[in-house]
Amino acid sequence: MFFFHRPPDSGDGVGLAFTDRAGGVSEGAFGPLNLGRTDVDDLAHVRENFARVGAALGVERFVTLAQVHGPDVVVLDAETIAAWGPEQHLGSEATGVPLRRADALVTDQPGTALCIRVADCLPVLFADPARGVIGAAHAGRVGLAAGVLTRTVEALRDLGARDIEAWLGPHICGDCYEVPAEMREEVAAQLPGAYAETSWGTPALDLGAAAERQLRDLDCTVERRDRCTRTSLDLHSHRRDGATAGRLGALIWRTA
Ligand SMILES: [Zn+2]
Repeated sequence: MFFFHRPPDSGDGVGLAFTDRAGGVSEGAFGPLNLGRTDVDDLAHVRENFARVGAALGVERFVTLAQVHGPDVVVLDAETIAAWGPEQHLGSEATGVPLRRADALVTDQPGTALCIRVADCLPVLFADPARGVIGAAHAGRVGLAAGVLTRTVEALRDLGARDIEAWLGPHICGDCYEVPAEMREEVAAQLPGAYAETSWGTPALDLGAAAERQLRDLDCTVERRDRCTRTSLDLHSHRRDGATAGRLGALIWRTA
């Protein structure tokens, strides 16, 4: 069920997890553990998948976003969390209310897990445990270049964070993320460290290296938990499985 899991009782009250594909009830390439694609997967399956993850983590409440590859950050206060309701993470198919269109969440509220969904894009989790501030961001090629990580760190600092730890989760690696040569030039000009070559010798991008460099420049501590999604059959990958790929979850929460 978890590619990486650090329970909150390990000392600082912040728990985090990156899910894999095991332990859910979705079918085919979506599954078994799909935490996204409520638009096309069976909603009852996704609901059950979240319930199982919540039971395993000791988390009762999730919040998420309609991710649009932009730089916008949603700051979650207690009123927003209450207004979103207990099934917000299942989206409009369950609640009738569209998810907010943004790519990062930050909060100082305990008890609710922030959830970013990915299948090759880079998920990044953030925490300043001493100050009780956490965040999660969806950083694919477009969002990373648009500054989503910079904006997320700014929002965390606005909430009082100072010593920020960042965890990079599973994503398509620089050996596999093939792009046209012109795209590599354009992106690498904006994102130092992104320039890469596939294992078969064609132009590529290394999002993990670019994100690590950006986060270190922003004075964050960086821990990499980022095995390649495309070559790991136990992880969801859009490049490998196409339109029917499920989504893994990057989750962070703090206890009350
Ligand atoms: Zn790879």
